[in-house]
Amino acid sequence: RRSSRAESVEMREDFGGYLIVLRDVTAETRLEESRKRFVADVSHELRTPITSLKSYLEALLEGAREDPVTEDKFLRVMERETDRMARLIRDLLQLSRFDSGYEALHCEPVPVEVLLHRVTERFSLLAFQSNIQFITKLSDTGVWIQIDRDRIEQAIDNIISNALKYTPSGGKITVDARMDESKEWVMLTISDTGSGIDPRELPHIFERFYRVDLSRARQLGGSGLGLSIAKEIIEAHGGTIRATSARNEGTAFVIGLPVCEGEIEDEHA
Ligand code: ADP
Repeated sequence: RRSSRAESVEMREDFGGYLIVLRDVTAETRLEESRKRFVADVSHELRTPITSLKSYLEALLEGAREDPVTEDKFLRVMERETDRMARLIRDLLQLSRFDSGYEALHCEPVPVEVLLHRVTERFSLLAFQSNIQFITKLSDTGVWIQIDRDRIEQAIDNIISNALKYTPSGGKITVDARMDESKEWVMLTISDTGSGIDPRELPHIFERFYRVDLSRARQLGGSGLGLSIAKEIIEAHGGTIRATSARNEGTAFVIGLPVCEGEIEDEHA
């Protein structure tokens, strides 16, 4: 088994005795390992669509374009691969802005109602088109949270988009917002009746590039970064996110965001 502990030992003789300095570099080694893995993952993720693009391009140049049906089919595959690369690069840029600390949050008090309303606006039609019931529930009214609206909406979008991807026709997605018992947190629960996630995979789903079923996730157009981005956004707000799931029954993501304290001037009224 590989040891996660690494120590650098330094010996000095210059004072006529020995001074041994032990430095625990576990964290540094981990960071270095995760950096290497990240670069390898990014290269792999980009190489796949580029290889595919190149082979379709070659086939077209070698004569496939003479048949209009084949040409059209190949061009559509190329379009899909290009879209996938564009999504991957968009997600990578977002993560790198977070890593470098450039992505400052622009927080303002927002009523939870407004957030839920926006979610309904964006997803009810999409769900309807996939024959999925989309329900939003608000248990406590008049609650405000201090958030960067665009960012939090992006985090929620990533989670609901997954729910839509992994829930079959006839299923249901519920977004429930309520205060917890302490009245200090708003708990947003996004649950679906989809494929669920195996308990062995569940602890890893927030890791960058982690996908349970690689080929299936690729087919569905995922970059494998959606949940890690959501987690970074929520934690940057001082919030929490966790997931529970049962195979073939569905998945629930629970987001906790701190409630605004004190009086708020209602600009949204
Ligand atoms: P992707 O871009 O592949 O969707 P994510 O980081 O958003 O990547 O999600 C990581 C993985 O977690 C997905 O590939 C999928 O296997 C699994 N997953 C996420 N949400 C759900 C869900 N609602 N139901 C089932 N599996 C899910």
